[in-house]
Amino acid sequence: MKKFDVIVVGGGHAGIEAAHASAKLGSKTLLISLNKKRIGIMSCNPAIGGVGKGHIVHEIAALGGLMPQLCTKTYIQARMLNTRKGPAVRGLRLQIDKPEYSKESIKELSKLKNLTIVEDIAQEIITKDNQIAGIKTRQNICYYSNCVILTTGTFLNGVTYVGRETDSAGREGEEAAVGLTKSLENLGLQTTRLKTGTPPRLLKSSINFVKIEKQEADNLEYLFEFYPHKTTNPHDCYLTHTNEKTHEIILKNKELSPIYQGDIKYQGPRYCPSIEAKLISFPHKKSHLIFVEPEGADSDEIYPNGISTSLPLDIQEKFIQTIAGFENAIITRPGYAIEYDLVLPQQLKHTLETKDIDGLFLAGQINGTTGYEEAAGQGIVAGINAHQKNKNKEEFILDRNESYIGVMIDDLVTIGIDEPYRMFTSRAERRLILRQDNAFLRLTPKAYEIGMIDQSMYKDFLEEKKLFEEIIKRLREKYSNPQLIQKFGDTTCDKDAIKKLAATNLSDRLIQNIFADVKYYDYLDREHKEIERAKKYRQMVIPKGFSFKNQPGLSNELQEKLIRYNPKNIAQAGLIPGMTPAAISLLIFKIKQFDNC
Ligand code: FAD
Repeated sequence: MKKFDVIVVGGGHAGIEAAHASAKLGSKTLLISLNKKRIGIMSCNPAIGGVGKGHIVHEIAALGGLMPQLCTKTYIQARMLNTRKGPAVRGLRLQIDKPEYSKESIKELSKLKNLTIVEDIAQEIITKDNQIAGIKTRQNICYYSNCVILTTGTFLNGVTYVGRETDSAGREGEEAAVGLTKSLENLGLQTTRLKTGTPPRLLKSSINFVKIEKQEADNLEYLFEFYPHKTTNPHDCYLTHTNEKTHEIILKNKELSPIYQGDIKYQGPRYCPSIEAKLISFPHKKSHLIFVEPEGADSDEIYPNGISTSLPLDIQEKFIQTIAGFENAIITRPGYAIEYDLVLPQQLKHTLETKDIDGLFLAGQINGTTGYEEAAGQGIVAGINAHQKNKNKEEFILDRNESYIGVMIDDLVTIGIDEPYRMFTSRAERRLILRQDNAFLRLTPKAYEIGMIDQSMYKDFLEEKKLFEEIIKRLREKYSNPQLIQKFGDTTCDKDAIKKLAATNLSDRLIQNIFADVKYYDYLDREHKEIERAKKYRQMVIPKGFSFKNQPGLSNELQEKLIRYNPKNIAQAGLIPGMTPAAISLLIFKIKQFDNC
């Protein structure tokens, strides 16, 4: 009998991370994926990271995951975004060689001795008394396990659109997965559909790079992983813009778009809209930015980031050729939109196991998220928890006060989604604490405890932690915080000043960590106190008769939201989108006053 400890369905970004974590921890794991050669394919943009998304990848590194290693091996350009802003909202973004990323994923997975990979389509979930028993595939093979993780991306009943032409597909050129949604629904799970889209790809040699602006890369000394890395940036990216002529063509033909026609009924990512949607939403904008990014080091294709579209191919060709540098551009693959099934994520626990089907875990786009990083962040949590469950060990839950992955999962399972969910730093109440420079301090001890971090890295981590604590202590004994800020530089990190004051050679990430710790000292102190306070009051019941209306100090928007969501306790109130720690403190104060009346 084909029996495994854990079965993962889908070799995308969630599936890779889930299979890697489960096998690394020692569970006999099976990965079933449609096409072995397309494991780790990046369906859309050739980049990983950015503000918010990059924070997730740092956290995956701190948890011992695979994505950061794959990034180091396959990046072709590195940039640190938002360097003029504070350390909490900076984001590392790497341009990735897409074909190499997929090859490296397959290579790394095949090194795992506990992992078996088969090429097939999972079609049916086998259960026994609401307990997962395994998966039946299209080839009529049954694989048995008490823990199954589904990471099916955009493949469940996927339908692609180019103008009014539609196709049943999981993404361009790959068949959709049909059958599994029905099986999920038969188990009582509620599903829905969402939409996303991608731009056309252009032939590199048909682009006139002389006419467009080169985008400078950054020389960095660390990437997502723990150990330092001096970047080399062998490939250039460029910038160009749409113009009034482009807009005229798109708007004149907007009725040919499947969204306008009403063929696509479901919600797409609000923060990553198609160019058609941008022009309709922002009619006064005369131009939109396009990032011109290579699909890979040796690829002859360019990804024009910012003009995702599902207009007919001839219209795509027309509007593309109005853009500076693209006058003679040849489209190698048309842009398209895709609609797909997903499972409403409120049906999950924080471990990403479904509440009602014991042993069934879901991760990635199937939970309503969009993005490789969001998928991988869920994958690692699902993989760890499937292993823990299999071995009767404790659940592995990340809190929203300790990680962006925790924020994402908490948002998904408590509030749910009504559009594809992507990570922004604004989703985290404690973003001063959740920085990329301190991801290892936040999460590595927790990951080490369960076996995700090896002994030698943990030893190096402990040494770095000790050094960090000693330097901070020494500096605080010698200087007041304002003096330190002055010496370090107020807004940007003065690396040399910090090195000099620390009187030792420090890695760049550690320097950033020390800088942020000093710069935010007062705020961090307050945030930690607020976390403790909020923990204490989490279960505080909002009494019957307490009115959210006309509470001085609470904005009208928050009052309205509180009335709408009607939370039963402080923990629930804290999950309302836009709720701030200050508003929660005020609410606690008002409830105490109310109780004393
Ligand atoms: P995927 O990476 O899609 O992987 C799913 C895997 O599961 C595949 O390997 C597939 O073969 C396998 N599979 C599916 N069903 C079965 C089955 N029944 N049996 C066996 N194997 C199965 N992200 C952004 O951040 N921004 C964007 O603008 C954006 N646009 C996108 C546009 C398009 C057209 C597409 C397709 C994706 C886009 N993405 C975008 C999303 C990004 O590609 C996904 O969010 C990310 O890849 C999701 O990861 P995943 O692991 O959940 O799924």
